[in-house]
Amino acid sequence: MKLTIQNLSKTYPNGVQALKNVSLEISNGMFGLLGPNGAGKSTLMRTIATLQEADSGTIMLDDIDVLKEKPKVREILGYLPQEFSLDPKVTADDFLDHIALLKGLTDPKNRKETTDALFHQTNLWEHKKKKLGTFSGGMKQRFGIAQALINSPKLLIVDEPTAGLDPEERNRFHNLLSEIGENHIVILSTHIVDDVSYLCSNMAVINKGQLLLNTKPSEAIKTIKNRIYEKEIMKSDINIYKEKYRFLSSRFFSGKTFIKIYSDSNPGDGFINVVPDLEDVYFHHIKNGLTRALHAEEVNV
Ligand code: ADP
Repeated sequence: MKLTIQNLSKTYPNGVQALKNVSLEISNGMFGLLGPNGAGKSTLMRTIATLQEADSGTIMLDDIDVLKEKPKVREILGYLPQEFSLDPKVTADDFLDHIALLKGLTDPKNRKETTDALFHQTNLWEHKKKKLGTFSGGMKQRFGIAQALINSPKLLIVDEPTAGLDPEERNRFHNLLSEIGENHIVILSTHIVDDVSYLCSNMAVINKGQLLLNTKPSEAIKTIKNRIYEKEIMKSDINIYKEKYRFLSSRFFSGKTFIKIYSDSNPGDGFINVVPDLEDVYFHHIKNGLTRALHAEEVNV
């Protein structure tokens, strides 16, 4: 199965251009859509999930025209939105049974088999008799996945699923998603670079509605090999370095300040060449993208 997005654009009535001519191809496996808050990720996810209209462009899921044949898409789509509400007073078991009924599983035996399997798959079996109001953030997210998987979707979209989860819950959620990713297209939208590094075989970076990168994480890392440099600095000097170099990121560790920069050649000045990671790729593209956008604005003026 292949999802092909071509020249997708969307401007909200308040003038915010949330998607600017986005083109993207997504096939089986886990796909990470990475970008900061406000980048346009949810707009893109909601449009693929047939929940909102684009201004122009096309989305094809194999030979289904997503923007026109919405009922067909909904039959094969599972969607876990960024925020969803659950009735706190209802037990997980009753709630999932109700959703399964709504999704057309009218045979009680078939429904029970399906929901039981989903409780096992999402590691919620021992909690299924509990009220949803007692669930932790991670349990709610896994329950959200159980709901999204009821109709055995071919395409699963999860929007910012690990934001707010503690490390153990995040880890469990990662394991669940990678299992699902073995036989589905899973699109994971996130601002957390680690989620993509751990899980995704393909990825895109989006910022301010623009697609900045679309590749495999390993390929992306290769392109900046030997170009990432790190240095321990005095915290108060950070702005000097930001001015002087192509600054990527800073981290504070044991009372020390370390910065990373991008440079085509060895900058000297006490910098050490380090092995790049996906976060370096991310910051490199976000910051480069911003520079390009600023430049375009200057040219327009
Ligand atoms: P992300 O999911 O990456 O955080 P969104 O798609 O939610 O990004 O938002 C992209 C941009 O569109 C942001 O500037 C946001 O404020 C704006 N936006 C999102 N939804 C609406 C809306 N319904 N009306 C107006 N502006 C919106």
